[in-house]
Amino acid sequence: MRRARTPEVYRLFQCKLCPNKGTDQEIRGVGARMAAYRVCSSCDFWLMCLGYAMLGDQDPDGRRALRIDGVHYLSWTEEQGFPPEIGYVGGGENRYVLLDDPTGTVHVTRRLWLMGTIPDAFRDRMPDNAVFAPPT
Ligand SMILES: [Zn+2]
Repeated sequence: MRRARTPEVYRLFQCKLCPNKGTDQEIRGVGARMAAYRVCSSCDFWLMCLGYAMLGDQDPDGRRALRIDGVHYLSWTEEQGFPPEIGYVGGGENRYVLLDDPTGTVHVTRRLWLMGTIPDAFRDRMPDNAVFAPPT
């Protein structure tokens, strides 16, 4: 009797950017890309965040990458809706100041996605760009 289909076998490989192993298993639809780049899922995620930094930390419709104390956040607008993978920082108000803003304008948002601590392999290329402002 023939098997209807061969079981899927995922290939493991050494990540080019960190000590972890990568796989070509589909994870959020990016397995093929990770295999092509030879990076693990964590580094693939952080390469995306590095892309935000390289593109100026803000897209034209208002999303903004914030790096505060080595932790990465992403804000979004009402129109965009929240990111599908969201982890929360809570419903409270978040106040922040951009480090390169000479006016020191305090921005306020309730829409902030906590994406995680930036790994050492990316820290040099992703320096802080903001600080949290104290509540009024
Ligand atoms: Zn990696």
